[in-house]
Amino acid sequence: MNELEKDYQEKTKMKNIEQIIFGSFEINTWYFSPYPEEYGNQKLLYICENCLKYMKKKKSIMKHQTKCTFKHPPVEVIYVDSTPSILPIQEIPKSIVIYEVDAANNKLYCQCLCLFAKLFLDHKTMYFDISSFIFYILTEEYKGKCNFVGYFSKVILLRIRICLMITIYLVL
Ligand SMILES: [Zn+2]
Repeated sequence: MNELEKDYQEKTKMKNIEQIIFGSFEINTWYFSPYPEEYGNQKLLYICENCLKYMKKKKSIMKHQTKCTFKHPPVEVIYVDSTPSILPIQEIPKSIVIYEVDAANNKLYCQCLCLFAKLFLDHKTMYFDISSFIFYILTEEYKGKCNFVGYFSKVILLRIRICLMITIYLVL
């Protein structure tokens, strides 16, 4: 293990946020996440299940939810599956919908997503400089309500190359 890895492990071995309230769920977190200090030193954090913004107080999230305009992740739907589930426990018909979110155009949403994800992923390292990523958000929708299920992301290599070329051009 090199010095950088040791330093990272030392800084992040202590879980900062113990629990989150995410919609109607109370969820115990697993790992440290680098939320801004005034939020990261809370034992309990409230996270909007629609836009993923984070708040310290219950009254703040309640006020936020009355005016939150996000009903689903921002922009493109790229996949919809309305096939009824074969699982007997699923009584309400639900659709699986995947959204494609470009971090360059939805920076705040994607930063909030990364901070949220880090609560459950030990080795995630990108949180703020994410403009070269595209995120695919898996949701489950029923009765017009969209529920976050998970996500994955990929790097856009062409965008990195263009940024490097601009940087090199500016340096020279
Ligand atoms: Zn919201």
